[in-house]
Amino acid sequence: MALCHLSHSVNAPFLVFTYACVLLFGNVALPLSYRRSVLFTSVCVAIGGTSTLAHSGLDPTVRIFAVLLFASSAAYMVLATYRMEEGERRNFLHTLREKLAVEALAEHNSLLRRLSETDGLTGIGNRRSFDVALSRLWREHATSGGAIGLIIFDIDHFKRLNDTLGHLAGDQCLQAVARCLDRCIGPGTSILARYGGEEFAVILPYADGRLASTIAERLRAAVAAEVISLDLPSPTASLSVTVSGGFIVTTTDEVEGPAGLVAAADEALYQAKRMGRNRVRQGSPQDEGRCVVGA
Ligand code: GH3
Ligand code: MG
Ligand code: MG
Repeated sequence: MALCHLSHSVNAPFLVFTYACVLLFGNVALPLSYRRSVLFTSVCVAIGGTSTLAHSGLDPTVRIFAVLLFASSAAYMVLATYRMEEGERRNFLHTLREKLAVEALAEHNSLLRRLSETDGLTGIGNRRSFDVALSRLWREHATSGGAIGLIIFDIDHFKRLNDTLGHLAGDQCLQAVARCLDRCIGPGTSILARYGGEEFAVILPYADGRLASTIAERLRAAVAAEVISLDLPSPTASLSVTVSGGFIVTTTDEVEGPAGLVAAADEALYQAKRMGRNRVRQGSPQDEGRCVVGA
């Protein structure tokens, strides 16, 4: 605009048409946000328009033509900025919505995974989680060559308890035993799960026989010492139960897969039952598959 006014060239007045470049710069090259673009463009049109209309070197028709050119360019630029900003906002919302949906899905998935691995009654790991963990640890131990341990506990005379106090009392007893075992095992690498009805399993990764024996005995004693309060309208407000346990510690090449490990621990458990219950017995890899039916 300054050149246009200061230059003495005969073509200098036509420089007013280059003023549209300022609009291009502000709205496309920068670009400004919609609000700033409106402000910037309005100021540009006001200055450019006034200065063009006041230019004595231009024919009035050319001046009006130049001003109309500014005004229409300004309108298109502002419209373009508006559409660009609207597109960006839509994209942002779209991305945000997708991100939230992915987060919600991940949360649902983790909740479902937790539910699928949790025993509904006791809140500890269920049989599925036990099978998955044992297979995983079995593979890990097969590679590393370390010994893996497994304890299986079974509540003694549980059927009698159900029959005399009812299944609700039995359920509360199962919950109390699970809580007691969980508390006693504490945080660490050992994995506790409900194996079946009134049977609980503890996997001991990288275990040795003496440690497994100590843990099994400590858990048995903890259950025996637990006073279970029943929340029932029955005359029996509290009771105690005992568990028998069988455990095995072995390397993966001594037994036939995870099933062999379970079978050997199971055999030791039945020995503990036969010996009078409320005790733990250590099994040996050779016990696998020697389960005596009906014993
Ligand atoms: P043992 O000392 O030889 O183990 O005898 P037991 O009575 O404990 O063993 P048995 O296998 O005869 O009985 C197990 C009982 O556990 C039978 C079944 O009704 C009960 N049981 C299994 N699951 C549940 C459960 O979720 N809730 C309740 N209340 N009882 C259950
Ligand atoms: Mg049983
Ligand atoms: Mg039992």
